[in-house]
Amino acid sequence: MKREELAAEIGSGRYESDVIVIGGGATGLGVAVDAASRGYRVLLLEQDDFSKGTSSRSTKLVHGGVRYLAQGDVKLVIEALRERGRMRRNAPHLVRDMRFIIGNYKWWERSFYTIGLTCYDLLAGKLGLGRSLPLSSSRITREIPGLKRDGLMGGVVYHDGQFDDSRMAISLAQTAFDYGGVCLNYVRVDGLEKDGSGRVCGVRAVDLLNGRDFTVRSRVVVNATGVFIDDVMGMDSRQANKKVRPSQGVHLVVDRKFLGGDSALMIPKTRDGRVLFGVPWHDKVVLGTTDTPLNQASLEPCALEEEVDFILDQAGQYLAMQPKRSDVLSVFAGLRPLAAPTKGEGQKTKEISRSHKIYQSDSGLLTITGGKWTTYREMAEEVVDRAIGIGGLERRACVTADMKLHGYAVQDPESGWDYVYGSDREQLRLLEQADATNKELLHPDYTFRVSHVLWAVREEMAQTVEDVLARRVRALFLDARAAIEMAPRVAAILASELGKSNEWVNEQVTTFNKLAKCYLVK
Ligand SMILES: Cc1cc2nc3c(=O)[nH]c(=O)nc-3n(C[C@H](O)[C@H](O)[C@H](O)COP(=O)(O)OP(=O)(O)OC[C@H]3O[C@@H](n4cnc5c(N)ncnc54)[C@H](O)[C@@H]3O)c2cc1C
Repeated sequence: MKREELAAEIGSGRYESDVIVIGGGATGLGVAVDAASRGYRVLLLEQDDFSKGTSSRSTKLVHGGVRYLAQGDVKLVIEALRERGRMRRNAPHLVRDMRFIIGNYKWWERSFYTIGLTCYDLLAGKLGLGRSLPLSSSRITREIPGLKRDGLMGGVVYHDGQFDDSRMAISLAQTAFDYGGVCLNYVRVDGLEKDGSGRVCGVRAVDLLNGRDFTVRSRVVVNATGVFIDDVMGMDSRQANKKVRPSQGVHLVVDRKFLGGDSALMIPKTRDGRVLFGVPWHDKVVLGTTDTPLNQASLEPCALEEEVDFILDQAGQYLAMQPKRSDVLSVFAGLRPLAAPTKGEGQKTKEISRSHKIYQSDSGLLTITGGKWTTYREMAEEVVDRAIGIGGLERRACVTADMKLHGYAVQDPESGWDYVYGSDREQLRLLEQADATNKELLHPDYTFRVSHVLWAVREEMAQTVEDVLARRVRALFLDARAAIEMAPRVAAILASELGKSNEWVNEQVTTFNKLAKCYLVK
């Protein structure tokens, strides 16, 4: 993924594509992979870094959604369970099987959850990950030693998938490249081009790394900008109605000792009637999430004090060691791009369906919103099927259902951080063999190494310290203080790779430190 050469070619004004995708989150990257693998010329433009928006801030679950089953949204659950199985099969280096434990404190809960979760297993059919089973209280506390024992009457174990969201986004961008597509980060779309009959036929964009404006023509344009879809629809028509309802979800990252063991904790009903997860992730635990309606979309949303307190309080009711504010290693917030509710749906964000919606405007702009990371592939298939009709493209069938993603490797998921690179691990090993400095750790407490930074800038289009520490390795999300300590070394490596000055290094470190402070809880 050599950004400079590609950006020069795209910016030349001579480039024409079949499909332009605006937005480099799960949805847009999925569309790029689908279109490229069907043999169409596809260009994806992302205004910041790949997965900078919602797609790096999820709960990291590849799941059917037990909560949606309880809400009776069986169609969504079946679709998501099917996609869960496919995601695990096509990217085993990034998606792993996880045991989720529900502790029971009332006599009827064990049978109730066992029956419900058995239905969940049945709906997954052949793509199931494992059977749900009732467990005794001693077995439950062996699986999650950190769970409070008072009043625990037993529990149920069920299976879902768990993944690294921003690494999956990088893998999708690489897959799109492998099939001849082009994905560029730091290119913002500022306007839509229309032909004489008013049909969208391209975009006006600016390369934010050099300030150059350019226009690219395309047969179809897809708006996959998450919580920003209304802005792009506004470029198409001033009369466009609001289609998205942002809802903020916050997660706290704490030490692994709070759960102990390798299983995740699922709390089915919090004070506000949501579910709360405690999920082991890269040797830490992610606790979350919340559901706070917002009127404003932002790329870097901030956790509210009451959201932090809510999660600590709810988790503390179930964990023997109650996590305190000082235990939080990192806090991150993300905005769900929920499709604005239709008449029949409830108005509370937790009641709005997580299904996706696709809109086609009179000018042919295709917009997609809603959905989940887990269902990105199916959403992309539907969008490209629609795009074929709009752009008059030669009809070709979708091939992604069984298509291996970049880095595909069947391996032991427990082997440190490096497993996320899958088959590219060998390349990292060669980098380290070539120069022992590349083996050096960025921080004594973490296994992130110089080789990971080099790889990020040479092969994964990382441009800034934040790109590396937030989304190529997950230091910022795992431990914001440690990430601040890693920043100067990362900036120096980037500067030497990208030919930047000392001034640039200082500026990068200052900018990163300012950002990282928002991931700290005071
Ligand atoms: C708290 C939370 C927890 C979640 N947990 C899970 C989970 O565990 N499992 C699951 O399956 N799903 C989960 N989801 C849902 C999932 O994360 C989202 O559905 C998905 O990431 C949305 O991806 P997206 O591509 O639509 O949006 P985004 O990731 O936000 O991508 C949109 C992109 O468009 C770019 N953009 C905007 N305007 C422009 C422009 N003019 N030009 C160029 N680019 C532009 C933005 O910079 C952004 O990167 C969760 C969501 C939240 C908020």
